[in-house]
Amino acid sequence: MPVPKRKTSQSKRDKRRTHYKAQPVHFILCPNCKEPALPHRVCEKCGYYKGRQVLKIEEL
Ligand SMILES: [Zn+2]
Repeated sequence: MPVPKRKTSQSKRDKRRTHYKAQPVHFILCPNCKEPALPHRVCEKCGYYKGRQVLKIEEL
């Protein structure tokens, strides 16, 4: 198996990593309660998904 002859320099390594960056967290506003929620998931605030109640949310 081929093996690198030299250690990758800090400069080379860091240049390669210039494309690595943290992605902003995606979210949508729930169409039912208008709270921020994760896309393609049941809203944790009101328990709605696709316009219907899927989870029972117990009020405190
Ligand atoms: Zn909601």
